[in-house]
This record gives sequence, structure tokens and C-alpha cells, in this order.
Amino acid sequence: MPHNPFHDTSMPMTSVKSGSGYEVVPDVYCLTVQIVNVYFVGTPDAPKDWVLIDAGMPRSEEMIINAAERRFGAGCRPRAIILTHGHFDHVGAVVELAEHWDVPVYAHPLELPYLTGAQAYPPPDPSVGGGMVATLSRFFPNDPIDLGGYVHPLPADNTLPDMPGWRWLHTPGHAYGHVSLFRDQDRALIAGDAFVTVKQESLYQVITQHKEVNGPPSYFTPDWDAARESVRTLAALKPQVAMAGHGMAMEGDALRKGLDALAVNFDVTARPQHGRYVDD
Ligand SMILES: [Zn+2]
Ligand SMILES: [Zn+2]
Repeated sequence: MPHNPFHDTSMPMTSVKSGSGYEVVPDVYCLTVQIVNVYFVGTPDAPKDWVLIDAGMPRSEEMIINAAERRFGAGCRPRAIILTHGHFDHVGAVVELAEHWDVPVYAHPLELPYLTGAQAYPPPDPSVGGGMVATLSRFFPNDPIDLGGYVHPLPADNTLPDMPGWRWLHTPGHAYGHVSLFRDQDRALIAGDAFVTVKQESLYQVITQHKEVNGPPSYFTPDWDAARESVRTLAALKPQVAMAGHGMAMEGDALRKGLDALAVNFDVTARPQHGRYVDD
């Protein structure tokens, strides 16, 4: 039976940074769970009015609950959980968290089959991405999870439940029902995996992370044309701060230049030259 590196705590990728967090803007807190970020949207002075964006790695529920209680107080619970998409590293603890807090989960209608046990994602493509990611991606689980009655489609009018001022945009490509969240007032963007702010090769080496705008994680992206159009849509929003599923938040000029360059050069810099979802 293959050894699953994600369950080996001696591996450096379950790094020193896992479980630590920081405030990106006053009402958005980023918590890094091993390799992936979750976001708490809300301020500690309103501990009943916050929302969790994404749900981390499998078995990270305790880490997420502890971080939430440090920020919002003991026994706190969010009003809702919102998923940017259903990949394993964004929904790992979602069933446990929805049950523990007894709160609704929202996702794009196209993601619902993967969240209700109806359908499995296409398998990851280990032939793209290079190096460690290629080696690891064969271990990535792609079994569907089943949220049962906890999961609901996002409102059709692009508003977000319990997130006044925010709206969701359909940004498919990396996943069919991938969404990004945007707040016009301060141009804050929660990008999921539509793009990431870390090098592809170091996605799973959080210790060596260096901020840089990059295309979506390639081993899971089934539609590169849609992924490119989604990056262009997000670049056109001219975000002031971007919080992605992988990597540290970026802001200002560095963000805009990086995102504009990715939008223009996407087919050269982001799209893999070969691979399961490229050649056909
Ligand atoms: Zn993903
Ligand atoms: Zn991801």
C-alpha cells in the first residue's frame, strides 16, 4: 500500500507554519493549514457575525476550531461556511466542521455533485507540475465527500450569505464550479485556486514559499481555456489585495503587475505543455 506523505508528520511539508495565521485586512484573518489557507471573515468584536471560507486539509477540524476560538472566543461558531471549490485540500474538514457548528455550507451549483457523494473529481494529473508536486499528486484523494443536507447552492444573484458587501464570481477552469469572492469597497479578493501566490514548484513546501502570482495548481485543472478567462476576469477587477488558497496574501503594485502579467502570458507561463487535460 502506498505511503501517504500527508499523514506523515515528520515530513517537512507539514511545516512550522501550519496552524499559524495573520490578519490580512482588519476583518479577514488567514489561517494556514499545512499547505492550504482558510479565511475567517469577520471581526472579533462581532463574534457571532463571521464566516469561514474553505475548510482545509483532512483532519484539520481541531486546528480550525482552535484558531476560530482564539479569534472570536470560546464556543464561537460561524454563520456559514463558503467553499471556493471542492478539492480535497479545501474541503478536508468541512463535514466535521458543519456538524460541529451545525451551520450551512455554500458552494457553486456545479460543485454540488462532488460535495454530496454523487460524483468524484477527475483524477489529478501527476504528469504536470514538476518535481515534488508530480510525485505527491498521485496520493491526493479525489473521492467525493458527502455533506448531505448541510450544503446549499450559492444565491443566484451573486450575493454571499452573511457577507454583506461581498459578491461571488464564477471563475471556472481549475474546477468547474470554482468561485472567487470580491468586495468592491476595498477591492479585496479571495481567489481560491483561480490563481495562487506561490511558485507552483513550492506549493507544497510552505517553508520556502516566496510570493509571486502564478496560475492555478496544474495537476487538478481540467479546463485551461476557462482558467485563463477566469484569471483575466479577476485581473480586470484590479484587486488591491488578493488572498489565495495557497501562498501569502499579496497587495498593491506587486499584485497588480503579477496578475496582469499572468492574464496576458497565461498560455505561456501557466498552461502546461503536456498532460492529461492539455493534449485532448
Ligand atoms: Zn484546487
Ligand atoms: Zn488548493
